[in-house]
Amino acid sequence: MLLYDKLSYWEKVTHLENIDYLVLGSGIVGLTTAIELKKREKHAKVVVLERGYLPAGASTKNAGFACFGSPSELLADIDLMGEEKTAELLKLRWLGLQKLLTNLGAEQIEFSPCGSYDLFRKSELVDYQNILEKLPYLNAFIESNIGLKDTYSISDVPDKQGMKDLCGSFFNQHEGSIHTGKMMQRLYQLAVETGVQVLHDMEVKRFWEHGNAVHVEIQWGIVSATQLLICTNGLSKNLLPELDLNPARAQVVVTSPIQDLKLNSTYHYDSGYYYFRVVDGNRILIGGARNQDFAGETTELLETTENIKRHIINLLRDVIIPNQDFRIDYEWAGIMGVGSEKMPLIGNHSPRIHYAVRMGGMGVAMGSEIGVRLVDRVLDN
Ligand SMILES: Cc1cc2nc3c(=O)[nH]c(=O)nc-3n(C[C@H](O)[C@H](O)[C@H](O)COP(=O)(O)OP(=O)(O)OC[C@H]3O[C@@H](n4cnc5c(N)ncnc54)[C@H](O)[C@@H]3O)c2cc1C
Repeated sequence: MLLYDKLSYWEKVTHLENIDYLVLGSGIVGLTTAIELKKREKHAKVVVLERGYLPAGASTKNAGFACFGSPSELLADIDLMGEEKTAELLKLRWLGLQKLLTNLGAEQIEFSPCGSYDLFRKSELVDYQNILEKLPYLNAFIESNIGLKDTYSISDVPDKQGMKDLCGSFFNQHEGSIHTGKMMQRLYQLAVETGVQVLHDMEVKRFWEHGNAVHVEIQWGIVSATQLLICTNGLSKNLLPELDLNPARAQVVVTSPIQDLKLNSTYHYDSGYYYFRVVDGNRILIGGARNQDFAGETTELLETTENIKRHIINLLRDVIIPNQDFRIDYEWAGIMGVGSEKMPLIGNHSPRIHYAVRMGGMGVAMGSEIGVRLVDRVLDN
C-alpha cells in the first residue's frame, strides 16, 4: 500500500506538497478548470485528484452528443423553468460546445456536424403535433438567444433509414457528435502539457479547513492546499451534502455490427430519455431509459441492470432496427449529477472551497464553459 508517510522526499515535494489549487475529479469540468487555472496563474501548482484509474463518473462514459436541445427537450424546459432560465441553459450549452471545439480541435475529437433527430412514435402523435405547432416559436427562441437560424425542421428521413412505428421526427441541423474517448484523452494531454498534475486512484473521503489551508483525506493520507475546487459532479453527495444534488445513473449498450445500417446522425427519443448514434460505422450505441426506474437509477453504482437494458433493447427491436439480429457487445453505466432544477451549481462552500457540479445530461456541451466560469469565481474571490 502506497501510504503517504512512506513516500520519498521527491514524491512529496513534486506532487503532494505546496499545492495552490487542488481540484477534485478529472472529468471534463475538473480538467477544464485545472487547465484554465494553470493558464491564468502560470506559477501556481495545480493538482487534480481522481478516484479512478480512469475518470470514473460521466465524462468517459457518455454518448458523445454535441447537443444543445431537441425541440421536445427545449419545450419541456420552457414549461418547467420558464424562458429566461431555459435561455441561460441554452447559452451555456452552446458556448460550451464552441469552447470544446476550439480548445481541443474539432478534428482531434472527431466532431461530426451530423445533426440530430427528435423521434415520435405513432402512440405519441399528440405530442408530435403539439411541437409541430410550436416549431416557429422554438426556432425564433433559438435565433434570438444564440443566433442560429432555422434550427429545427420537419423530417421523414428516419423512416427511410429503416425505422418503424414513427409518426414523425424533427431534424436539428446544428448539432453533431464527437468521439468521447478522444475528447477526454485530448483534454488529459492538454492538462499535462499545460503543467497540471493529474493523480489517479486518489479518492477524497472528506475535507476540512485549518489555518490558511484546506486539507483532504484520501485513502493514503492527508493532502493540503490553499484552495479546493470540487468537480465531482453526481458523486458529490458525501462531500457537499448541503446541495440539491443526486446521482443519476445512465446505462449504455453498443450492438454487434449491423449489416446495411443506414443511420447517419444522432437521435433522441422520449424527450431525450433515450439517445442513439452509430459508432465504428456499423454498430449502434444506445443509452437511456432512466425514466423507467428513477428510484433504481438514483445510485452511484457503476453497473448495468437487466431491467433498463430490456427497455433499451426493446427500442432497438421495435423501432430502430426491426427484423435485424444483433448482439450486445459492450455495456456500461455512468453517473450524472441531477437535482430539482436543471441548472448546474457553481458556488462556494467557503472562501477557499468552491464547486461546479450537477451537469445533468449536458456536461459534454456545457463542461468547457463551466470550468471557465468556476475559475472566474475563484480568481475574483
Ligand atoms: C451515459 C451517459 C450519456 C451522456 N451523454 C451525454 C451527451 O451525449 N452529451 C452531453 O452533453 N452530456 C452527456 N452526458 C453527461 C456528461 O457526460 C456529464 O454531464 C459530464 O461528463 C459531467 O462532467 P463532470 O466533469 O462534471 O463530471 P464527471 O465526468 O462525472 O467527473 C467527476 C469525476 O470526479 C471523480 N470523483 C468523484 N468523487 C471523487 C472523490 N471523492 N475523490 C476523487 N475523485 C472523485 C469521478 O471519478 C469522476 O471522474 C452523459 C452522461 C452519461 C452518464
